[in-house]
Amino acid sequence: MSGTAFPPDRYRRITDGLGRLAGGAGPSVLIQAEAVVALEALAHGIGLAGRPVLSIESSRYGRLSTDWLRAAGAQVTALELPDGEAADPQRVDDLLRAEPDTAAVVFTQAEVLTGVAHPVDDIVEAAHRHDAAVAVDAVAAVGGLAAPRNADAVVIGPQKALDGPSGLSVATLSERGWALLGRQDETFASVLSLPYLRHSARDQGVPGTPSVPELEAAERALAAVEAEGIEARITRHHAARAAIREGLRAMGLTPWVAAEQHANTLATTVEVPADADARELAGHAVASGGHWVYGGSTKRGAYLQVSHYGRRATLAHVLGELAALARAAGHFADVGDAAEAASEAWHTAVL
Ligand SMILES: *Cc1c(COP(=O)(O)O)cnc(C)c1O
Repeated sequence: MSGTAFPPDRYRRITDGLGRLAGGAGPSVLIQAEAVVALEALAHGIGLAGRPVLSIESSRYGRLSTDWLRAAGAQVTALELPDGEAADPQRVDDLLRAEPDTAAVVFTQAEVLTGVAHPVDDIVEAAHRHDAAVAVDAVAAVGGLAAPRNADAVVIGPQKALDGPSGLSVATLSERGWALLGRQDETFASVLSLPYLRHSARDQGVPGTPSVPELEAAERALAAVEAEGIEARITRHHAARAAIREGLRAMGLTPWVAAEQHANTLATTVEVPADADARELAGHAVASGGHWVYGGSTKRGAYLQVSHYGRRATLAHVLGELAALARAAGHFADVGDAAEAASEAWHTAVL
């Protein structure tokens, strides 16, 4: 029963609108909770006892998925990647050849923390060649990168590049994706059952007692994307990526993710020079007006991270971050060159 009045047609439009942005492989379901709940529900549904699943781990979210899948009983092969390294579709192909019964490949399209983006369409192709389904966490990617094509399950949230609320999320699944969750009884009430959530939305229109402010915020976010155009939104994120990377190079710094096509458009990571202390450098950059944070370190060294998604995917924001880091890193003499390189790259990308 619906305790709060919210029109079912608007609820449906939010679900379908977000589902389309997620790639719209098939019927979508709205989860009245932040995206990690949707991701846990998806893992819970995929993780049949003894079912072989390949989990590509490129950060905390991937590791969580592995844990949830294992807790549900799946037999998980984890492909652990160092921070900022993109998954190699050939490697995925090899792993699936070695485990031909693999039912699903699970991974995160883009990582805000490390700056990486995986070649999602190539991974989908490799998985489908081996008759494995694909489930993608596109929470960070949606609105900043093209949606996955032909994935079987995609989870998104509006709180990053869509500038929306963090208290709801959407999963869009193909027929095959829904079939993967087939052991879950759609009439058994559980927030960790996407089939149940879909069934109750069909049954009740607006299931439970949703948070109206969250739904209205999602509507505003969708309207803003519609007004700008999803292609333009994605292009603006690509321009931010190009601008900040060129700016960093112009001041003698090195992007942590070497290949541009493996760098996502939501956040950028940069190598910390060997003679600098990463946390200190981040602190100085913040004191200089930036938003750089310590990202992490691997045997390659340490890196800083800055986000530039949603309303921060602007040239103005990128220039400010470059100036702050330039001052912190003692490259202030190069800030003019960095600004010129960044604005050149921005304009080339949006043309
Ligand atoms: C932000 C994010 C999430 C989770 O969002 P919450 O709001 O914390 O639930 C999941 N996956 C990725 C890749 C994210 O960037």
